[in-house]
Amino acid sequence: MNSEKLSNRLEAVANNIPQGARLADIGSDHAYLPCNVVKKGIVPGAIAGEVAEGPYQSALEQVQSENLTAEISVRKGNGLDVIQPGEVDCITIAGMGGTLISNILDRGKTKLDGVNRLVLQPNVGSFAVRSWLIDNGWELMREEILKEDGKIYEILVAERGEPLKPFQQRNLEAGILFGPFLMGEKSLIFIEKWNQEKKNWERILSQLNDAVQNEETASKRLELERKINMAEEVLK
Ligand code: SAM
Repeated sequence: MNSEKLSNRLEAVANNIPQGARLADIGSDHAYLPCNVVKKGIVPGAIAGEVAEGPYQSALEQVQSENLTAEISVRKGNGLDVIQPGEVDCITIAGMGGTLISNILDRGKTKLDGVNRLVLQPNVGSFAVRSWLIDNGWELMREEILKEDGKIYEILVAERGEPLKPFQQRNLEAGILFGPFLMGEKSLIFIEKWNQEKKNWERILSQLNDAVQNEETASKRLELERKINMAEEVLK
């Protein structure tokens, strides 16, 4: 992958950035995504945010080597600390766990004024992102699922709106876990993902059944059984 040819995962993120958006890519690492969308003319400029020194340097070098320093501002800092309120209207956060993504959004709530689109790509734990969106007034507009190099990724696109709207026809807990759009489509990749997860939960459940039984194992077992039942239901 490079800024000319993104991975299919990052390409799917890029495809959900509105034409002309003022973009911040948080956790940008190599800054391939902002470089790509600026060069394609999708956005006039962007902010690339990074918390870690190595990736920050790599983003700086990439932007300099592409002569994009006028268009892309590389900033070092934690999450949304790198943006000013009202500075951007679209934020991408890709390639991290869902809990980290929701923590970044939660910690940076005051920086979301004026932001009207979030394009989020959790590697795992997308339920944490969906819960955060619901609790904070963001409506899921679309979801994608794709497989690349043997890994399955989800992309969640949200705008300010009616957070519960996409979940209306569904059991809320199942919608948060599986994704209201993804569980409606039930693509082959979706089925593969949840078959894998279900097998994993069944394996943990059988280990728990062999373990010392106490209050903690009992509540873990119940939780796993509920998730396995939900997966069986959605995979029917
Ligand atoms: N977004 C790129 C992608 O999807 O290919 C890079 C993903 S990389 C696996 C995750 C990056 O997020 C790392 O470079 C890490 O330093 C950065 N990161 C993690 N927590 C962060 C935070 N709180 N604020 C900014 N960047 C963060």
